[in-house]
Amino acid sequence: MSIPPPISGSSVKDYTPSTPCTWCEGCGNYGIWTALRRALAELCIPPHGVLLCFDIGCHGNMSDKILGYRFHGLHGRVIPLAAGAALANPRVPVIAIGGDGATFCEGIGHLVHAVRSNYDITFILHNNADFALTTGQATALTPKGQVMNTAPLGTVEEPLDSMDFVFSLRPTFVARGFSGDIAQLTEILKAAVAHRGFSYVDVLQACPTYNKFATHESFLERVYDVAGDQAYDPADFGRARRTASDTGGRIATGVLYRRAGVPTFYDELAPRRGIETTAVEEVSVRDIAGMLKKYA
Ligand code: SF4
Repeated sequence: MSIPPPISGSSVKDYTPSTPCTWCEGCGNYGIWTALRRALAELCIPPHGVLLCFDIGCHGNMSDKILGYRFHGLHGRVIPLAAGAALANPRVPVIAIGGDGATFCEGIGHLVHAVRSNYDITFILHNNADFALTTGQATALTPKGQVMNTAPLGTVEEPLDSMDFVFSLRPTFVARGFSGDIAQLTEILKAAVAHRGFSYVDVLQACPTYNKFATHESFLERVYDVAGDQAYDPADFGRARRTASDTGGRIATGVLYRRAGVPTFYDELAPRRGIETTAVEEVSVRDIAGMLKKYA
């Protein structure tokens, strides 16, 4: 990923508008918002040099709480719009942000094809295991039997093992962070943006208003950083998949898997080979009146 030069000494303030945050007290969105602004500042990416794409959800309310080029898309559709933008202008880092409801329900097909296509974007999953914006319904990641607003007797479906699912698609970058560890999440996001290819970042996030089963405190007790294990090798696909999927006891965080040097979707496009310009630079005004005449 090429990163545009900074316009000033970057700091978190460069990415912070005056719009006040409206998330509930204790919401994990605050931690993710802070880590994202820190990561952009530390990468010296100026606000005019990044595209931030938001899905629908409580996280999407971040779209006017952070500076940068921003696009707030439709529910479950953030990945294709981010991928399209990255293909049109591969020089600008593109970060797509979505919730677990949108991503693993409506948008799951988009996730599948983004991972297997290896689009050069970073995807941040706000994983609070519920549809929070619509007041606490179950998503595909909510544990079976959990009482939710639309499941007063408990959910009846088996939850999706999201990490194992992502690994089944042969990703090139998988990480997991926690909204309560801003320092670690900042480093994860910096590594994700720097990775060439599709970077999948699962962020465990507290939603104290609607999720009473995976609290900030319970995450604090269970998460550990794989960087603390000197024998952990993020290039070991099998171990990474097992480690990422094993969430029964402790939960592994950090850069869990990384495979560098894999061609991106753009790299594989034969018509783009050897072309130095981007698609957006090739846009021109053309008179198509003559072409249309034959349909008149
Ligand atoms: Fe955060 Fe949950 Fe409140 Fe939404 S409902 S702002 S996710 S705590």
